[in-house]
Amino acid sequence: MELETNDMKVLGAIKRGASGLGSIKNIVHLKSDELEKILDILDQSNMITVSYGTGLLGQKKLIVHVTESATKEMDEYADGLSKRWKEMIDLAIAGERETLDKIIRDEPLLVNMMVFYGVVDMATLSRLNLRFLLEGRHLCYKCKKELGRFAQKFSVSSVRKFNFKLPRGMTTRDDLCADCFDKLTS
Ligand SMILES: [Zn+2]
Repeated sequence: MELETNDMKVLGAIKRGASGLGSIKNIVHLKSDELEKILDILDQSNMITVSYGTGLLGQKKLIVHVTESATKEMDEYADGLSKRWKEMIDLAIAGERETLDKIIRDEPLLVNMMVFYGVVDMATLSRLNLRFLLEGRHLCYKCKKELGRFAQKFSVSSVRKFNFKLPRGMTTRDDLCADCFDKLTS
């Protein structure tokens, strides 16, 4: 079956250890009904198993796990992303900016997914001057969490304003999420 970008994002989040709806939502920034729909699809295609635990207040708590076939699917997906990343590097080296732009127009989240799946990291993107390939500036510079449209974002100037130590390599094009900003020290 053909899984879509958001499906792969949800699977990736679960694999990283998010098992409840809240923590998955935190990582993928989807609306509840969108997330529920995706979990339904993943469940029907045997990509996840669902069990119930007990929450702190004794309430029933959903626990989601990825299945072996999902792990396989994710490995293949990451392999595919790796191959495409190598092609994109070649294009960048050859100066084929237009082709790169077209790829990103067709698949705006492609490089974000590469970062999400650990195929490439922000430092490498910066070094190669390829950060423009990322959709928006939607990832926290430090923890790579997606910064939704309404998420609080902290730029270099906010870091300076509070006299905090600037994370290494962070530039004026980067943003931090509230959690990472809170963890900065002076
Ligand atoms: Zn962060």
